[in-house]
Amino acid sequence: MSKKFYITTPIYYVNDKPHIGHLYTTIAADVLARYYRQNDYEVFFLTGTDEHGAKVAESAKESGLEPKAFTDQNSQLFRDIFKKLDISLDYFIRTTDARHEESVKKFIQKLYDQGDIYEGKYEGLYCVGCEKFITKKELVNGHCPDHKKPPENLTEKNYFFKLKKYLPEVERLIIKDKILIRPDSRKSEVLGFFKQGLDDFSVSREKVEWGIPLPFDAKQKTYVWVEALQNYISAIGYGDNEKDFKKWWPADVHLMARDIIKFHCIYWPALLIASGLEVPKQVYSHGFFTVNNQKMSKSIGNVIDPYTMVEQFGVDATRYLLLSQFPFSQDGDIKASLFKEKYNADLANNLGNLLSRVFNMLEKYCDGKIPQQVASPIYLAPVRELIENLKFNEALREMWQAIDKANKIIDENKPWQMAKDASNRKKLDEILSQLASFLLELVVYIRPFMPSTAATIVGSLESEKITKGEPLFMRI
Ligand SMILES: [Zn+2]
Repeated sequence: MSKKFYITTPIYYVNDKPHIGHLYTTIAADVLARYYRQNDYEVFFLTGTDEHGAKVAESAKESGLEPKAFTDQNSQLFRDIFKKLDISLDYFIRTTDARHEESVKKFIQKLYDQGDIYEGKYEGLYCVGCEKFITKKELVNGHCPDHKKPPENLTEKNYFFKLKKYLPEVERLIIKDKILIRPDSRKSEVLGFFKQGLDDFSVSREKVEWGIPLPFDAKQKTYVWVEALQNYISAIGYGDNEKDFKKWWPADVHLMARDIIKFHCIYWPALLIASGLEVPKQVYSHGFFTVNNQKMSKSIGNVIDPYTMVEQFGVDATRYLLLSQFPFSQDGDIKASLFKEKYNADLANNLGNLLSRVFNMLEKYCDGKIPQQVASPIYLAPVRELIENLKFNEALREMWQAIDKANKIIDENKPWQMAKDASNRKKLDEILSQLASFLLELVVYIRPFMPSTAATIVGSLESEKITKGEPLFMRI
């Protein structure tokens, strides 16, 4: 049996319209999914939308829609843009799916039956924007640091999960990298949460209408965070398909932005351990980004609409431009103002030029055939490791430096001059064969990032008669 690779993105909050932040995570996950598929792994790539909670119900009301109709509409926007961007997802989960709801109920009931969920009273500060209770320590000038609004005082009957009982085991697994948290800085951050101290947490809400009722107390709805995390197991059959579930679980990577690692690295493993399930192998948190050195916001006007970007540059170039900006693990800046220059330099010129030169010369000097089998003189091996370590921008940089070298080989050897003298035939064939070998090797690494570009390159090189063809990237 082949090896399996189960990768997830967070499920996206259905109140948002898809923006390049969602795409950044999802394209990265897609690169990994495609990379592992082509390395003969059986891959399950999960993404979806998070659809319950008071805030969703409020937004639905404002739009004059029932919550279900509202979430249907907004969830579709995510599926549309993912399709547009060639996201090779295997399953799109919605937390309003009946299957998910049933799975959640089974999971919660089991914890309740074994005594890990108990009734209590919750008093605390609650941020509606975050949909979570917030501690005084987290406030900045009395406001939620993310939503810049003061939290509400809330007292209600809640059910609590015995988090504290499972904390030592979670901490041990993190220290031993049994739950590998990457990058390292995030691991330290998570271990810091244990030192600050953590309390049992509430898994239900009394005043929320739009949610999954607790199976043992229908007046209470499951806390959105708790059921959202469970999408990772409900999607692969927890509760209704034991065979699939066993095949895919545990997840190989949960991918996300760094603001939600506490839920994923502490609460989620604790819930899993309590249920007797394995913990995820890895939680990878990427950085936040600014756009042109400012936080993306409507008022600044620097929100990048994915459709506009695709219209201007095309699907593959959009994928390239987003992932080539800065190290995936770190915070960074998306230089939207330089998209055009980067597109022209890297794609229209560097790669585009190389392709049209090589295809053109093979057509002209070699009758449209690759003359012989000669290994590529350009070393590409490090790219594999860079992709596996989610160092996407470095992997791309490595590839583009290699493309540069290939162009230099052409510049230095000037095959068009060699072709004038029959005594150069052998050397000319050798150089063109080397370049073709290089492209065939390169394309393996380009494919996860730019799938249709890769397909076109392979299609050209494997065709009966290679021709110059149309340029893949028109200059803008
Ligand atoms: Zn908040």
